[in-house]
Amino acid sequence: MKRLVLAGAGHAHAQVLLDWSRAPLPGVELIVVSPQALAPYSGMVPGWLGGAYRLDEIVLDFPALCAAGGARWVPAEVDALDPDRKRITLSTGESLGYDLLSINVGSTLRPPPGEGARMLAMRPLSALPAAYDAVLSDWSREPLDRPWTVTAVGGGAAGVESLLAVLARLRHLRPDRPVNGALVTSGTQLLPGLSAPARRAAERALAQAGVTLQLGSRWCASIGRSSDLVLWAIGAEAHDWQRDPARRGALAVSAQGFVQVDAQLRSVSHPEVFAVGDCAHWVPGAHALPKAGVIAVRMGPVLSNNLRAALGDTAAAKLYRPQRQFLVLLATADGRAIASRGPFGAGGAWAWRWKDHIDRRFIARYATPTPVSSATAYESDIA
Ligand SMILES: Cc1cc2nc3c(=O)[nH]c(=O)nc-3n(C[C@H](O)[C@H](O)[C@H](O)COP(=O)(O)OP(=O)(O)OC[C@H]3O[C@@H](n4cnc5c(N)ncnc54)[C@H](O)[C@@H]3O)c2cc1C
Repeated sequence: MKRLVLAGAGHAHAQVLLDWSRAPLPGVELIVVSPQALAPYSGMVPGWLGGAYRLDEIVLDFPALCAAGGARWVPAEVDALDPDRKRITLSTGESLGYDLLSINVGSTLRPPPGEGARMLAMRPLSALPAAYDAVLSDWSREPLDRPWTVTAVGGGAAGVESLLAVLARLRHLRPDRPVNGALVTSGTQLLPGLSAPARRAAERALAQAGVTLQLGSRWCASIGRSSDLVLWAIGAEAHDWQRDPARRGALAVSAQGFVQVDAQLRSVSHPEVFAVGDCAHWVPGAHALPKAGVIAVRMGPVLSNNLRAALGDTAAAKLYRPQRQFLVLLATADGRAIASRGPFGAGGAWAWRWKDHIDRRFIARYATPTPVSSATAYESDIA
């Protein structure tokens, strides 16, 4: 009996489990290790922040996926890895051996002290629901008429979408209580990588929401002191254990701690380890891939195939080839969204309906584990 361990309830592992439910490999024990049972689907997170979805509508139920695939669910975190001895140490103190390990543990953020403001880190997504509930509860209960200022730090899609969503939600909950918005980014333009028309549409949406833009500005203590809530949405960082040589052993990682993988999504140092999504650094590319859910989703079918090939199934290994252009659909929390692809961009209620349809269809397939077509999965995504 061989043992395949999937570390993390990430987007690509959902695909692996779905494929497993359709065609389990005899003689292979499948174990999934992840601390949270319900994994938020990133494409719907801004809609949930804005109140368009309940949390239970945007999560992938991993224990259910495990049950459908005959896999064992272990509710714990990977705390350390010894890739030479093929063992992981769990947060429970237990140790687990593997023949093949796949890592899809996402990324994190390390916000600085809030300097008086409450910090809401946008990663890891798994920690967001409890922290956001506490913010909403305070906002609803506080008797003060004093206005709040919400500042997003980061000019990418996560910063723009989360700020618009949080402002809309707070205003909806307490129409009587003023709330101001600000967005601070060290970049000289918003949404780098998106088309010029999409960037202009985002600037209009921010202006309509009363957001003050501070381009070319870095986080400093005074921003914290003048804010009540800070949405920390800068670039993704690797988890502590990946950055610590004592906890990752000889596993090859990038300078930032992301697991270095080849075109087959295999570790460049340990072929029995695979890594995908935010936690991985795809070595064949000239540039690092964006840390986006779409990347993890698109890696899913390749990973699933290559794990089977490595386990001796007949399938030949496939190469992961990133798309050169993505369709991006940004929710603006006003019943509209902004679409961007290549040089084109436009916004409107139609874009929100389109995004909502795509995202609901995606999550529904995982809610009732039946084979999902990777070609149609996650058509709305971040470039
Ligand atoms: C506000 C916001 C909006 C976004 N919107 C989009 C969007 O519209 N489109 C898009 O493409 N991207 C979007 N992103 C980016 C997206 O969230 C991430 O890139 C994506 O979730 C990464 O997917 P993943 O599968 O790599 O990991 P994740 O989805 O983060 O999953 C990682 C899993 O691993 C688990 N885990 C973590 N540590 C351990 C450990 N040590 N041991 C075991 N398990 C562990 C976690 O609990 C989690 O279940 C958004 C991000 C934010 C913050």
